Amino acid sequence: MKTLLQVLTVLALAVAPALADAKVKAGPRKGRIFELEGQNAEFFVEKDRTISIAFYDAAGKKQPAAAQVVTATAEAPGAKTKLEFEKKGDLLVSKAPLPAGEGYQIVVQAKTTTDAKPKNFRIKLLTHTCGGCPNPEYACTCDE
Ligand SMILES: [Zn+2]
Repeated sequence: MKTLLQVLTVLALAVAPALADAKVKAGPRKGRIFELEGQNAEFFVEKDRTISIAFYDAAGKKQPAAAQVVTATAEAPGAKTKLEFEKKGDLLVSKAPLPAGEGYQIVVQAKTTTDAKPKNFRIKLLTHTCGGCPNPEYACTCDE
């Protein structure tokens, strides 16, 4: 059964065909893939609600975080929060957890080096498992 949010998402895609073209890709950790220049970043929400980002080269091989710079803005109602990231092992991990709640937008800005042109990605925070695919809803790859 479709939830209201899913119905709204379908409607939003229907009125914004440009968005529908951007097919969602998921990474090995079942996170959402953001395509950067020559590499991919995988956005994943950990159990403690921090965001972790893993990096892969163009061939999909995991790479340790290097010079990439990531920031995120969680647009939680009444609690808009800017998150900064730090290296933790091979990953970049947000220094603070996401604000409480679900269904709000997160804007992730990522660049491959300090001097690179930043790319913005918008993602809707829905952490429950899709069911149609094994991914969390924010990384759902189902065709709608
Ligand atoms: Zn799905």
